[in-house]
Amino acid sequence: MALNLMLMGPPGAGKGTQARRLARGFHVPHIATGDILREAVEANTPLGRAAAAIMDAGQLVGDDIVIGIVRNRLQRPDAATGFVLDGFPRTVPQAEALDAMLDRRNPLVVIDVAVDDEDVIRRLSKRRVCTGCGTIVGAKEGLPPVACPDCNGALVQRRDDRESVVRERLTVYRQRTAPLIDYYRERPTFRSVDGGLTEDEVAAAVADAAHGGSVVRRTA
Ligand SMILES: [Zn+2]
Repeated sequence: MALNLMLMGPPGAGKGTQARRLARGFHVPHIATGDILREAVEANTPLGRAAAAIMDAGQLVGDDIVIGIVRNRLQRPDAATGFVLDGFPRTVPQAEALDAMLDRRNPLVVIDVAVDDEDVIRRLSKRRVCTGCGTIVGAKEGLPPVACPDCNGALVQRRDDRESVVRERLTVYRQRTAPLIDYYRERPTFRSVDGGLTEDEVAAAVADAAHGGSVVRRTA
């Protein structure tokens, strides 16, 4: 089935892991705007240079830049039957732009993954990323991981996972992204799920929300 899915929630809510798993399960691409931006930073493209300064300060990259990235990405053939969006939209103007892009597609399913701030800070301050394969590795038993479980590569802390930057990201998130919940809340395809749910439980919530959308389409 086609699935147009958007996952929202604070940084560190586990959205990336859930998004990758759901994309595999539904055979649609996982579109992570943060990854696209970080790749541009590493490649030192003009987009990357503009984005780097903003992200290092824990701020959000401007609406025009990310809307352009997503519009281009959704036009690629692999996204024709659906997608899992991760990290977009983050503002109401971005959400309005996305609705316009999805004009003739199935309804957007929105899953809000709810986690409280102190849990986010505990999780992210111990998270590391592999310099070899890019895998993100979480803490086990309260200690930061020491080597990549996939390739044994060296692990480093992402600059925007430092505690001071995480606190700033959360402040930005609460101020600017939380209004998205109000934007989507009344839709039959919106669900808020606890960040502690298992991947299977989240997948079930997604299926339920997608069903909510199809019911509305039939009766509309
Ligand atoms: Zn690795």
